[in-house]
Amino acid sequence: MSDRPVVVWFRDDLRLDDNPALSAAVAGGRPVVALHVLDDVTAGLRPLGAAARWWLHHALDRLTASLDGLAVPLVLRRGPTRTTVLDFVAEVGASEVVWNRRYQPSRVEIDRDLKAELRRRGVDVRSFQASVLFEPNAVATGGGTPYRVFTPFWRACLAAPAPRLPLPRPGRAVRFEGPVAGEKLDDLGLRPQGPDWSQGLAHAWTPGEDGALDRLRHFLEDGLSTYDRDRDRPDLDGVSRLSPHLRFGEISPFRVWWSVRDAVAHEEASERSADKFLAEIGWREFAHHLMFHVPDLEQTNFQARFDAFPWREDPAFVKAWRRGLTGYPLVDAGLRQLWTTGWMHNRVRMVAASFLVKHGLVDWRVGERWFWDTLVDACPANNPAGWQWVAGCGADAAPYFRVFNPVTQGSKFDPDGAYVRHWVPELAALPTRVIHAPWTAAASTLAAAGVRLGETYPRPIVDHAGARARALAAYSTTTTTR
Ligand code: FAD
Repeated sequence: MSDRPVVVWFRDDLRLDDNPALSAAVAGGRPVVALHVLDDVTAGLRPLGAAARWWLHHALDRLTASLDGLAVPLVLRRGPTRTTVLDFVAEVGASEVVWNRRYQPSRVEIDRDLKAELRRRGVDVRSFQASVLFEPNAVATGGGTPYRVFTPFWRACLAAPAPRLPLPRPGRAVRFEGPVAGEKLDDLGLRPQGPDWSQGLAHAWTPGEDGALDRLRHFLEDGLSTYDRDRDRPDLDGVSRLSPHLRFGEISPFRVWWSVRDAVAHEEASERSADKFLAEIGWREFAHHLMFHVPDLEQTNFQARFDAFPWREDPAFVKAWRRGLTGYPLVDAGLRQLWTTGWMHNRVRMVAASFLVKHGLVDWRVGERWFWDTLVDACPANNPAGWQWVAGCGADAAPYFRVFNPVTQGSKFDPDGAYVRHWVPELAALPTRVIHAPWTAAASTLAAAGVRLGETYPRPIVDHAGARARALAAYSTTTTTR
């Protein structure tokens, strides 16, 4: 058998468990070398945001250690994807390259081109399904077109053959004896340059596959059975927080799917709660489906009639929003949670995004970019799909007349104000009845809580009723379909 190595090209699949490309490489019995390419230069590829780069640094660190246990070196390279991969394959004299597929059109194009070029050079290529349960091109309407609405999309997925079982971690590989030169992880510049803002992230998360499996275990034991009840409560530990792990492929959606189904089979969670959770995994699938079929989801309105929408330029509003100083406690709590931990609860993402887009009439792309830079789970599919959904211009979008009221959302989903008290500590001593609307409190109540509106905490940056009326007027200009 040839001792020319097989290259496993790691991308959004930074794990050993249920990694079909890695398993196939090891099973072949030839030496295995792993490669990761950081590409900040190829035109048309969006560079990762700062928080995601921090995550990637630690994820690669963990992956290097786990692959070491399999006798597989992980080589880190930086540069344009195409030439970097081709040069590396030539350098190590690989006979084959394997990878797990990704679905962003710009990246699909690169992979397709590389596949053809490698084969032209006599190198075998195999690719595998690992990051989504249902590949975007395998799900289509009766008319053969992509889905635009979630419910029939997910119904079609659930009617298809069940997702395959996850693969176990592979055993040790044959060690590659040739030289493999790569960049040092620290030299990739993934960690904050200048002031180190990452302490809050480090405190909140354990990037890497072990951290992902711990999160899943904790959620199965302590969250899944109450997920249908608690998932909208930012004040509770009611959701899985698997999003950055899924984003970087530190855990497989197949592993998640079957662990949840097993929990139901063992009566550890109800069918209803599990279905609700798996439907959220379904939203992730749907976002990938949309991304695959829309070349630049983060730029282009899914509904073209929004191209002429009268967005406002308002740098002061955007600045207050980013810093969590809008005067609306739930919105501010969310933006501060995001800044400190790189994550925000889904309910608050919806309210905070709606506030920027509808109360501020600020272009959804401005918010999408902020999330892209600050979220550890910043996802090329889920993030623009989430923003377009909120803005009303997406597929299956929230109706334009739904303008979340941050006060009633706060009272409903953070009923004791614990979430606001944690993230907006200057309001912590306010009584619950006014915590979500401090401007309605009596002067004596504010004084007793040490709150001076306009000094220790801002007054509302816009009046809700006025902003709502303005949003409805602006949105009425787009309600006729082009
Ligand atoms: P859980 O409730 O435990 O759900 C499990 C998994 O299902 C999540 O990890 C995620 O992979 C998927 N999921 C859950 N809700 C959604 C959803 N609405 N759309 C797509 N997938 C979902 N999610 C990201 O992963 N990355 C993003 O960049 C992102 N940006 C968003 C932007 C906006 C404006 C909005 C409204 C939502 C966004 N979401 C994004 C979706 C959702 O908020 C997060 O996936 C969720 O909050 C992550 O927390 P969790 O892992 O505890 O979720």
